[in-house]
Amino acid sequence: MADKNLNDYSANDVSELILGNVDAAIVVDPSVDKYKAIIRRGFFEKFLEETGSYHDLILDLWFHFNDSHEKVAEDYQIFADNTGNFKGKYSRRLKIALENEEQSHLVQLTVYPFEDSKKYIFVLDEFIDNDSLQESLTTKKINTIQGSYLFSMYIDLVQDTTSSINVAEISEDVVNYNLKYSEWRMMIVNMFQPEDQEQFLRRTDPEYLKKNFTPGRTSSYDCMMRNLEGKYIWVKLIFSRAQTNNDDDYRFVFLVQDIHENSMEILSTLKKYEEMAITDPLTGVYNHGEIETQLHNALALRQKYDDPVSVMMLDLDMFKSINDTYGHSVGDTTLKHFAKIMRDLTVEENTSVGRWGGEEFVIVCYEKDADEVMNLAEELRKNVEVYSFPEIGHITCSIGVTELKAGDTFTEAFNRIDKAMYASKHDGRNKVTIL
Ligand code: GH3
Ligand code: MG
Ligand code: MG
Repeated sequence: MADKNLNDYSANDVSELILGNVDAAIVVDPSVDKYKAIIRRGFFEKFLEETGSYHDLILDLWFHFNDSHEKVAEDYQIFADNTGNFKGKYSRRLKIALENEEQSHLVQLTVYPFEDSKKYIFVLDEFIDNDSLQESLTTKKINTIQGSYLFSMYIDLVQDTTSSINVAEISEDVVNYNLKYSEWRMMIVNMFQPEDQEQFLRRTDPEYLKKNFTPGRTSSYDCMMRNLEGKYIWVKLIFSRAQTNNDDDYRFVFLVQDIHENSMEILSTLKKYEEMAITDPLTGVYNHGEIETQLHNALALRQKYDDPVSVMMLDLDMFKSINDTYGHSVGDTTLKHFAKIMRDLTVEENTSVGRWGGEEFVIVCYEKDADEVMNLAEELRKNVEVYSFPEIGHITCSIGVTELKAGDTFTEAFNRIDKAMYASKHDGRNKVTIL
């Protein structure tokens, strides 16, 4: 076909070329809520099933810009109601984000109606050329230049009005803000995570704002909001009451700031700090404070519910001689290996391993009664006995076990388990004792 003279090309050639290039072509019948994908290429193989519900399809396609932009909502409605009252051709650019994919796909959608029926063909093509990439980069740049404010608005609570402030650059759509504040709240609430919606309504309630903001006062809070691609991102919602000398004048500036990247960083730092605060740095198991807390919690659980909870205390035998013979650092390595044996054996169980101090460890075993925890302790004792520790070879441990009783105080429970462990020592070491 490529070496033909221009004059020789026919409509057939054109349709062949289009069919060979288009990324997706879908025939839809809204009246029976069905679509059939005739062509699926590229990422559309993942995005589209061969057939499916028409409503699910348009929700997937429109979802990402199903925000407060009136024009878009109108477009959506034309396709969403089954009246088939849409007659002409329709075309627009969409961003589609697949789940688990960072980068969204820029797509051109064109809708062709069948002439005398209420069916349509949806034709979809992904932009992969440099121009469109350049374009999306430019959009990104604009967002950055705007100082990460996604959204800003001027509100008058007395008039119940909203008006936009310089937001048109954020999106290619023209934003229309002839909305009452009371209506806007109810519309935008759906863009928040369901568990955050109640807080949003409470904090944007006109009475709340009037009561809590003196003139000039600014206040903010963080939450997660759906972005244009349908993903939840961290944002800061900022309300600032305008300066005024009239107590009955309640005008506010409202800003939404994108703080996602920063928030994710802070969250992961917090997680790291939390880990550090509860972990023993040498062995990687819980530290004394954490395992003591878990013991307290286990007792509280035992008192509240009937599920059994048991506790083990383990102490390495003749450990001082390891230090004396091989040096402190070999002793440290031995402790690390000992901790790993405990972790490996209990990783599938509902247990917490912690270092009580020195070469003494405590394991809280949830959902285990005396018999079950005895079996586990015995298995642990054997695993230690046969393990070949680096440099030192073999070492054993003594274990005390007890099942927590509903009436136990912390001291009673702890004394019992301590006694059980020492009974194992007195009994010749490398033993398990239950009390
Ligand atoms: P037993 O069988 O009666 O438990 O004898 P043992 O030698 O294990 O008991 P003892 O309590 O007399 O000694 C414990 C030793 O553990 C003393 C100390 O040197 C050593 N130890 C405590 N903490 C650490 C540590 O963090 N690293 C190393 N390498 N040794 C430690
Ligand atoms: Mg010891
Ligand atoms: Mg000891």
